Parts: sequence; C-alpha cells; structure tokens
Amino acid sequence: MTTRPGTRSIWISVGALQTIVSESERSADGLETGGILLGADSGKHIAIRHAGEPGPRAQRERYNFLRDLDYARRLADAAWAHDCSQWIGEWHTHPFGPLTPSDVDLGSYLRHLKDPDLSFDRFVSVIVGLDLSRGIVVTAWLVERDRFWQLSIRHGKDRRNAQSTAPPDSLLGRESTRRPGAEEHR
Ligand SMILES: [Zn+2]
Repeated sequence: MTTRPGTRSIWISVGALQTIVSESERSADGLETGGILLGADSGKHIAIRHAGEPGPRAQRERYNFLRDLDYARRLADAAWAHDCSQWIGEWHTHPFGPLTPSDVDLGSYLRHLKDPDLSFDRFVSVIVGLDLSRGIVVTAWLVERDRFWQLSIRHGKDRRNAQSTAPPDSLLGRESTRRPGAEEHR
C-alpha cells in the first residue's frame, strides 16, 4: 500500500455531515464510533448522501470499533429504496490517532474490495478526529486495491448529487442493494 497526494474530491450532504459530526462528539469518552456511508459512485463523482449511526449493538472500544451489522443492513436497504443510494464506504473516529486509515482499517476495506459479490472498485473511508483546538476534524480517503489517498471534501446543496437517481446500469434488474459486510476498525 502506498499513498499519493489526492487531487480528487468527494461531495457529502449536509445531513450526512451533521450525523458524522454529532455522533463523533460521543467519542469524547475516548471510545471509537462510526457507521456506514451510503450514496453514489458514478466512476467520476462520488457522493455521500447518508451516513449511518453505529447502531444499538455496536461495540465501541478505545482502539477498536465494530458497527451493528444488522442495523447497517437495514439502513442500506432503506437508502436503496429511498434514492438508490448504495453502500460506498465507512466512517469512524480515531479519538487518539493519526487520521489515516490504520493497517486494520485497510485490511478490512481490502476484504470488501476483493469480494466478487460486492463488486467494489474502490472504497470510501471517512476518519474523524477530535482535536482540542480545532474540534471535530473530518478527513476522507479513497482506497483501491493497491493504493489509497486523501480526498478533499465538498458539502452543501448540490442538486446533481442530492437528487434521486436511477440505479447504475450494473445494478439494473437487481432487487436489492450491495449489503454491508462485517467491518473491523482500529
Ligand atoms: Zn481506524
């Protein structure tokens, strides 16, 4: 795995950003938290439309986080029904850490990228820090099979990203969306 400077950006809805920021504030207790990211990846554009909360059965630890898998799957089904949003990635906090994906994070993402049933070309990782002076710091990363890099974040109103879309061609005829798998984070 190598990193290189990112020139690409990602769009995130105000609602998704609000969920991430308000949930991340709970990590002031020193425990990680997180959830799934749902939206659209057209190849050129990536839009995060919805961010999941961790769910009632999430396991939060100081250097580890497991989201509630059933809860994540219900969110994914609801988002698919609502606006054809798909599971495109994950967000979680690093209360003490550097805001880069850890080796455990990358291993988890790579398992998804290599799973033929999920048909991921890339995976979005949002990592959130709590900084005493700057408050909540949100970073976004794009992970491919052999590299990852940081993305700049755009947010705000953007009809092209926020509006409902038809399913991408690859999903036409499919009854359901890509279903979130188990995740492991550090
Ligand atoms: Zn992590």
